Amino acid sequence: MGHGDGSVYRTVLDRHGSTEFLGYTDLAAEATVIGLLVDGAAVPAAREGDSVEVVLDRTPFYAEAGGQQADTGELRGANFTVRVADVQSPVPGLRVHRGTVTAGEVSLDAAVVAEVDRTRRASVSRAHTATHLVHAGVRGALGTAAAQAGSLNAPGRLRFDFTSPTGAVAPAALAEIEDEVNTVLQQNREVEAYETSMDEARKLGAMMLFGEKYGDRVRVVDMGDYSRELCGGTHVGRTGEIGMIKVLSEASIGSGVRRVEALVGLDAFRHLSKEHLLVSTLADQLKARPEELPERINGLVERLRTAERDLEKVRADAVLSSAGALVEGADDVDGVALVAVAAPDGVAGNDLRALASDVRGRLGSRPGVVALFSADGDKVSFVVATTSAARDRGLAAGKLIPAFAPAVGGRGGGKPDLAQGGGTNPAGIPDAVTALRAALRG
Ligand SMILES: [Zn+2]
Repeated sequence: MGHGDGSVYRTVLDRHGSTEFLGYTDLAAEATVIGLLVDGAAVPAAREGDSVEVVLDRTPFYAEAGGQQADTGELRGANFTVRVADVQSPVPGLRVHRGTVTAGEVSLDAAVVAEVDRTRRASVSRAHTATHLVHAGVRGALGTAAAQAGSLNAPGRLRFDFTSPTGAVAPAALAEIEDEVNTVLQQNREVEAYETSMDEARKLGAMMLFGEKYGDRVRVVDMGDYSRELCGGTHVGRTGEIGMIKVLSEASIGSGVRRVEALVGLDAFRHLSKEHLLVSTLADQLKARPEELPERINGLVERLRTAERDLEKVRADAVLSSAGALVEGADDVDGVALVAVAAPDGVAGNDLRALASDVRGRLGSRPGVVALFSADGDKVSFVVATTSAARDRGLAAGKLIPAFAPAVGGRGGGKPDLAQGGGTNPAGIPDAVTALRAALRG
């Protein structure tokens, strides 16, 4: 949606004044449509299916601000419904409901009942109040130099960003903060919100955001001596309504700024419940008690590492032991010993090169050419190695490749002593061997 320079909103504001916000106490209210926009332009009416922006003279809908997500809900008129998906304040004082006309036709001056989705609002409010408590907990633990740098209050979860004077918060400190906040929740403290003067708020020691512009009259959200902060958001009536919080993570999000993410209420419980089930399943599978799991898993990882090392050694030995057999099977092509075969199954990459070098080494001072092929699905790779006596005869590994690589649908290159390449036709390996043999005969 194009909003241009916001002048269309300012026109509505100039004509009708600010939107009265009722949402601290009411979640449904009667109101009048004073502004209607489609595609960023003022319109007299909007029909079913239209994406609209609706401005009301008064509304219970909270517009996204201070990290708190916007309310959703419905605007219902005599013969229309608008489903509200978002509420923004594009110019101070104005609240714009964004959504879709789901039935009928909405027009300017229409009477509506504006009703907020109560479940979502309650969930967001729990997260917002919990954020204040996490803020207080963090400052209690880290000192007042830990200042809020941002937040998100969404249904069932919160994010709290803060500048940390001491870097990462130790897991133990984080667990203590979480425990303390949960204790405050259980104390079921009253959450009071009141307007007062800025001077009075300062005297009360209310936390305020650095760099934020506040008027002379400010709103304080107060949870007794634990948390007192300037805030325009919506909150629960008592901390007990939040139920519980579960901190999920604490991490850096930039220079000196840390982020705590937490789940709130039933979402926190469900998370813990799911993890409990996971731990129980693991304990069953490993036939251990939950508290023995870390040690048991460490032991398993250790044994697996040892087994992998042993296996690697066995495999390497097997590859190298095949070198002797390959040398014995060497053909004589005009006085040059040629070992040109498909490598044993599973020998590829570094192993293929190691095996080619080993075979070449066993050819000693004889003129010799080693060409090993390795097929994997519809791909084939190959390595060519030459002994120094072969190179003295002008047989350079890199130069031999063009003679046979087309047979396996590939190409490659390298130095006179060692070269490699790949192709896409493993079925052509026998033809490639024949071509290489022909090339040695000159
Ligand atoms: Zn707040």
